[in-house]
Amino acid sequence: MGIAATIQEPAEGLIFQGKKSVEPILRTENLWKLYHAGKVEVPALRGVNFEVQPGESVAVMGPSGCGKSSLLYVIGGLAQASRGKVLVDGNDLTELSDAARTKLRRHKIGFVFQRFNLLPTLTAKGNIAIAQFIHGDGFDPHRFDVVTLNEPKILLADEPTGNLDSKNSEIVLQMLRQLNKDLGQTIVMITHNPEATTYFDRVVHMRDGVIVDGVSAD
Ligand code: ADP
Ligand code: MG
Repeated sequence: MGIAATIQEPAEGLIFQGKKSVEPILRTENLWKLYHAGKVEVPALRGVNFEVQPGESVAVMGPSGCGKSSLLYVIGGLAQASRGKVLVDGNDLTELSDAARTKLRRHKIGFVFQRFNLLPTLTAKGNIAIAQFIHGDGFDPHRFDVVTLNEPKILLADEPTGNLDSKNSEIVLQMLRQLNKDLGQTIVMITHNPEATTYFDRVVHMRDGVIVDGVSAD
């Protein structure tokens, strides 16, 4: 065996020269999403370059219509990209068949929509537990366990606190933060709630179909 046999491919999370090298769990490259409304073409995403590291929590903000939901749906495999790349845990969604994309989505991604009333990756019990959070009496860690049964690596949330009063918004945000910190779930959440950003590692702002900056939340 020559010396080549001792050289190894860098592994995920390998430390070299004191710097941790980690592949992003989510990455888009020049991502475009066009909708066709009759003869009119609506460019919802116009070349989005976005990266999220494993275990990161990112809040996405921006005015209504700037493409936030479109970005989330394309990243989550619910909608197809028109152009560009979408990498989820190393898999390029744009190169997968519909069946393969669905499988990847089921295994790796959980969705949280407004009012928390639709989490396809959770059991019925989990959804009931969430409803109890929202309508009930605060934070119960025993119920919390039920909610996280499925533990997808990535949680995508589209304005989960959009219809909630401040007390219930806080409960939901606390829950998301706990999922992120305790289970290491990567979270991308769209929000208009300025308070929400204090619960997250990073905030990105979108405008007219692109990300216009990336500001550290601390
Ligand atoms: P946001 O979530 O930031 O409000 P969206 O991603 O929902 O933005 O929408 C971005 C743009 O794409 C808007 O101009 C919206 O009207 C348009 N759009 C969204 N969904 C569709 C659709 N299914 N058909 C046509 N246009 C759409
Ligand atoms: Mg939206």
